[in-house]
Order: sequence, then structure tokens, then C-alpha cells
Amino acid sequence: MTQYSRLIFFGPPGAGKGTQAKMLSKECEIPHIATGDILREAIAQQTEVGQKAQAYVEKGELVPDEVLAELIRNRLQQPDAQSGWILDGFPRTLKQAQFLDQLLSELNSSYDLVIYLDVPDEILMERLLGRGRQDDTEETIRRRLDVFYNQTAELIDFYQQRNHFLQINGNRPLPEVTQQIKTAMQEGN
Ligand code: AMP
Repeated sequence: MTQYSRLIFFGPPGAGKGTQAKMLSKECEIPHIATGDILREAIAQQTEVGQKAQAYVEKGELVPDEVLAELIRNRLQQPDAQSGWILDGFPRTLKQAQFLDQLLSELNSSYDLVIYLDVPDEILMERLLGRGRQDDTEETIRRRLDVFYNQTAELIDFYQQRNHFLQINGNRPLPEVTQQIKTAMQEGN
């Protein structure tokens, strides 16, 4: 049995991408590639990438596209990413999306499904303030929401024009959202 196994999750911060991606990754045994997690780890380790990314992450700004391009190019070529992946938090700009198209074609690959998790702002704010991550102060949360609407939201149009785009209402109980994603993944049967 095959099912869709190369997924792109996107949506505003706090939409539940990470939670959903983590669960599906475990259940479907495909790697969860969360660029935010990778960057936070790189910052903790003070690697070269970490040093380049730190100031941006702390302010809630996007890390430059070139840094992300390099990071994703390396990650998608790892052995565990050959049979599938869930991209969480990448792409976040049109440039990154175009880069991903090009990279996947170079690797003779493609994505199967783009999932956009849609949640109203008031709910996002509540959720993010309750999360207590180091970059989750009210100011950076506002900044990250602005960044999403100004720099990432145009990806909705970009992917909507293609097949295999699914917009999901993320303001529902977690298991319902998971179920809807799983059903969509089964369409790859
Ligand atoms: P996240 O955990 O997805 O909310 O990401 C945390 C932070 O990492 C963001 O606020 C950005 O500073 C940075 N980041 C993560 N993914 C990307 C990306 N695709 N492009 C640029 N910056 C990113």
C-alpha cells in the first residue's frame, strides 16, 4: 500500500503544524523536518548556521532564504528522507517555494500534498502565549504573525493554483484535524 508521503505543512505560527506533523511522522514513519527546530538546535550548538540565524529567530524575523536553502538541500539528501518527509515551516517565502521546486526536480522527486492549516488570529495569539517558548513573547508573536501575512501568505495562491492543495480549518479538536489529513494522505493509494 502506498500513500502520500512527501508533505508540505504550512500556516501561521500556532496553527498546529508542529503538533500534527509530529504525530503523523511517528505514525507513518516518515521524518518530520521542522526548520524552526533545526534552527533552534543550531543556535543552541552555536554552529555556523546557528550563528547566522540567531538574531532573526530571536526577533521573530525570517532567516535569509540562502541559509534555509542550504539547510533544506542537505536535509532532503539524508538517507532517512528518501522515502518521504513532512516539511514543517518550510517554505515560508515565494523564493523558498521556487527553490524547493527546483531542488525536488534536481533530486528527481516532487511533493505529494500541500496542507494549509488555517486558524483565526485571536486563537493563534491565545495558543502562542500559552506555549511559553523562548521566542513566544507578545512582541515577537505579533511580529511572527505579521511576517506570516506579509511574506508567507502568498504561498496560498502559489500552491492553490496547483493540484494536491488542501486547506484545513485548524480551529477544531486536534483528532479531527489529524483525521482529515490522514484521509487526504490515503488518496495517494
Ligand atoms: P517555527 O518554529 O517554525 O515557528 O520557526 C521559528 C523561527 O525560525 C521563525 O520565527 C524564523 O525566525 C525561523 N525560521 C523557521 N523556518 C524558516 C524559514 N523557512 N524561513 C526563514 N526563517 C525560518
